[in-house]
Parts: sequence; structure tokens; C-alpha cells
Amino acid sequence: MTGKQLLDDCFLHDKDRLRHHEALTILKDRLTAVATVETVRLEAALERVLADDLSAPRNIPLADNSAVDGYAFRHGDFDEAGGFFRLEQRIAAGQSGGAGLAPWGAARIFTGAVMPPGADTVAMQEDCEQHQQDGQDFVIVPQGLRKGANCRLAGEDVAEGTTILSAGQRLRAQDLAAIASAGRAEVPVFRKLKVALVSTGDELRRPGDLITVGDVYDSNHFLLRALCATLPVEIEDLGIVRDDGALVTATLKEAADRFDVILTTGGASRGEEDHVLRALDGLGTRHMWQLAIKPGRPMMFGSIGNCVFLGLPGNPVAAMVCFLLYARPVMSVLGGGPFLAPQSFQVPAAFEIPRKKPDRREFYRAFLKPGPDGKPEAHKFMRDGSGLITGLREADGLVEIPEEATSVTQGGLVTFLPFSSFGMR
Ligand code: AMP
Ligand code: MG
Repeated sequence: MTGKQLLDDCFLHDKDRLRHHEALTILKDRLTAVATVETVRLEAALERVLADDLSAPRNIPLADNSAVDGYAFRHGDFDEAGGFFRLEQRIAAGQSGGAGLAPWGAARIFTGAVMPPGADTVAMQEDCEQHQQDGQDFVIVPQGLRKGANCRLAGEDVAEGTTILSAGQRLRAQDLAAIASAGRAEVPVFRKLKVALVSTGDELRRPGDLITVGDVYDSNHFLLRALCATLPVEIEDLGIVRDDGALVTATLKEAADRFDVILTTGGASRGEEDHVLRALDGLGTRHMWQLAIKPGRPMMFGSIGNCVFLGLPGNPVAAMVCFLLYARPVMSVLGGGPFLAPQSFQVPAAFEIPRKKPDRREFYRAFLKPGPDGKPEAHKFMRDGSGLITGLREADGLVEIPEEATSVTQGGLVTFLPFSSFGMR
């Protein structure tokens, strides 16, 4: 991500603006991890990004063992009628394993206990009959068990040397279980990205402060703070910066030295009071600005020294959409993870859009509800304004309408991106 490799396409029509998939391709191609590596204990590794491949140093499980409470025996000792075995030994979980079985010998065995040498099959205790004769215990095992039944083989979960997890994977609960099963107490992970959050605008006040006509509460700060919590990043609040060119420049300059990423909202257009764009141009390199999407056309992406700059639009809806589509995957990659792409699926639209502008991709706040046939349909939030937080709140995802579409018909299939696939609800 260097120099002027990325497009700078201000003052263009939608058809000439950078398209969504082009923007994603550029970002994917140009970005690499900037985070360095640290070692953390497994207890602290949830949701962190693994920095190295991790393989099994030994078989998991280590030895063949029983999957049930029952009797272990050699399947070859079965005859037509079943098995009549002399009970020779008792092996409980945690013991290192029994002696070799003599012909027609069996071992009383419990779940997780190591199979005695020679045994290959376990009968469940419920299916067997144990009795004594001349002071010797015997067990009768009915026919019908296949060889290997109820026996867990060494390495059947993971064979020695197999890669369990690869660098770049974000660790989930089940991944931690797998690492623990391999005996690792610590793992190398990428350090959390340091992210500065900056709100810009003379009109902004923080909740708790008094407002008068003309003022607006800084909801974006809380939106972005929460959205960032879906990523392995550490945020610092740099507060609200007034619409003053010198002040914006000074703030960004100072932040660029201390942070991996600066995330701003507001001031992203070319208006007289939009200072972020000019400050970025003065301090570093702007790579991408106007996108052929709605909402959120002005989205800045650039760098100041080694710091990546992401300038989101001020309108909350646009800020959230741009964060999810671009800032989130960008920050994931910088932090050593994958370029996060949301899962999407096709659902019938329960709304219509008679006329849509071609050449731009549109994202609508939407929610799923069962239709008359019980199958989910996408409902669109009725009002369009990109300042309406209510629509974000009522939505549980976005509907994505591609550039070439000029309308959406009721019942026609649309692409739905659930918020859950962006790590949120
Ligand atoms: P701007 O991008 O600065 O032109 O802002 C566009 C719109 O978003 C204006 O109506 C702003 O008041 C609003 N806005 C900007 N920043 C925020 C914020 N942090 N929280 C809520 N609304 C904002
Ligand atoms: Mg502003």
C-alpha cells in the first residue's frame, strides 16, 4: 500500500467512480499485516489472530482408548454365537494401559481408558452379561459388533504432524480447545492494532453535555467504538476535533506517529468545512475517495507515514456501512487476519424499488421476516435518510443491490448480508 498506486477519482459520475468490487480488489491486493507478534497464554487468546501455523506435536488422542464403559476384547476371538471371555484385567481412565490380552481374554474398561495391547473392540456394558464360575469372572458378549466398535484410535482426531490451525486464523472457542488438546499453553498472535478514533465537526457534542439548536450528539464515536470491538484492535478516543484545518492537521499528524490506524468520521467531502480530506492530502497520501455506492460515497483511504488512514463519512448510516464493507476488512488484514468478506444469501424481497440509478451499488438497511410460506423475506427500512439511526437499529442486515440493477421487484431475489456475518448483531 504505497505511493499513488490507488485511484484518486474525485468529481466523477457514478459510472466513472470506483466500483465496490474494484475498491475491494485494490484493498485486497495492496494490504499486508503491519502488526508485530507477541506470545499470549491460551486463556487470553480468544479472538486473537494466530501468527504462525500450529501443528500437532503428537497424536491426538495419544493412544487407542475406549469410547464407552464396557469390555475390551480381540474381535478375532468372536465365534458364531458371540464371545465368551475370561475377564483378566480392569483399566480405568488415567491408567497407562493394561497387559496384553491372552486369547479369549477381555478387560473391564471405562470411557477414555487406554485399550490393552491386542484388544481392538469394546462392547458396551449394557449389552453384556458378567458372571462368575469357580472364582473366575467371565463376560458374555453378544454377536453383531463390528471390529473396532467403540474404540477410539490414536491420532483419529488429529494425527501427529498435521496442521491444526494456520497463521491468520482468528481464534474461536473450539480453536482454543484444539490448541489445548495439543498441549500448547501459549500461542504466538499478532499484537492488537492501535486505532485512533476521531470525530470531526463543530456541531458535535458528547452525550452528557448540554446541546442547543445546531448541535448534534456524537453518536458515531459510540457506533465505531462498538464496531471496532468485533476486531482484535485497541482503540483510543481522540475526542471531537473542530472544523478547523490547522487543528485537524495537527491532530492527524500527532496521531500518525502513535497509531497503526486513524479512523475518522465526518468532513470527508469537498465542502468548505470539510477539513479531513485537505489535511490528509497535506500530510500523506490519499488513495481512494469517491465510490460508486450508496450510502457512503465519500470514503477516504490513505496513509500518513506508516499509519493507515480511514476516513468515514459523517452520516451514521454511511459511516456504519463503510466501516463494515471497507474499514473492517482493512483493519483485519493489517492486524494479520483475513480480508473479511460477509456471508450473503439470496432471499425474496418483500419490497420494491421501481427505479434505481444504474452504475452504483446500493445497500439498504433490512430485516428478515417469515413470508406467507414461512420462508424468510427481506424487508427494507422504509425511509432512506442516511442520518436515520432508527433504520440501523431496526435492521438485522443489509440488502445489496448490484450496479446493473435498475429496479427491484417484489418477490424477486435480493442479496442479504446479515449483521451477524460482520461479527455483530
Ligand atoms: P460531514 O461528513 O461532516 O459533512 O457530516 C455529514 C452529516 O453527518 C452531518 O449532518 C453531521 O452532523 C453528521 N455527523 C457527522 N459526524 C457525526 C457524528 N460523529 N455523530 C453523529 N452525526 C455526525
Ligand atoms: Mg462535518
